[in-house]
Amino acid sequence: MRIADIPRAVRGIELDSQTRCTHYHSELDVIAIKMRCCQVFYACKDCHETLAGHAIETWPHSMWDQKAILCGSCGHELSISEYMASGYTCPACNSGFNPGCRNHYHFYFADADESIAADQAL
Ligand SMILES: [Zn+2]
Ligand SMILES: [Zn+2]
Ligand SMILES: [Zn+2]
Repeated sequence: MRIADIPRAVRGIELDSQTRCTHYHSELDVIAIKMRCCQVFYACKDCHETLAGHAIETWPHSMWDQKAILCGSCGHELSISEYMASGYTCPACNSGFNPGCRNHYHFYFADADESIAADQAL
C-alpha cells in the first residue's frame, strides 16, 4: 500500500492503508496525528522524528479545538478535545482506538493533565 492510497496525506514508515506504521501496528493503531510544528499528519512521533528532520512541537491546551487527529479507518478528522472525549472509539465509524496511546499524550499534547487541572482552577 502506498501513501497515495490513503485518503489524506499521512506520513509514516511502512504505512498501511489505515495509517499503521512500523512502530505501532496493532489492530487499534489506526489514528494519525497532525504535528503542530509542520501541520502534517504522521502515524506516530517516531515516524515524525525519522522523516521530518526537526523536533516535535506539542499542542498547547488552548489549541485543542484544532482538527489534529485523523481516524485511519474512515478518514474522519477529530479535534484533540473530541479525541480526548471519544472513549477510544471513532465517533464516525466506531473503530476502536488504542487506549495505550494515553501513555504517549505528553509527546503530542502539552501537559495534558496539568492543562486540564489549570483550567479547572481558573
Ligand atoms: Zn514536524
Ligand atoms: Zn511510526
Ligand atoms: Zn473512523
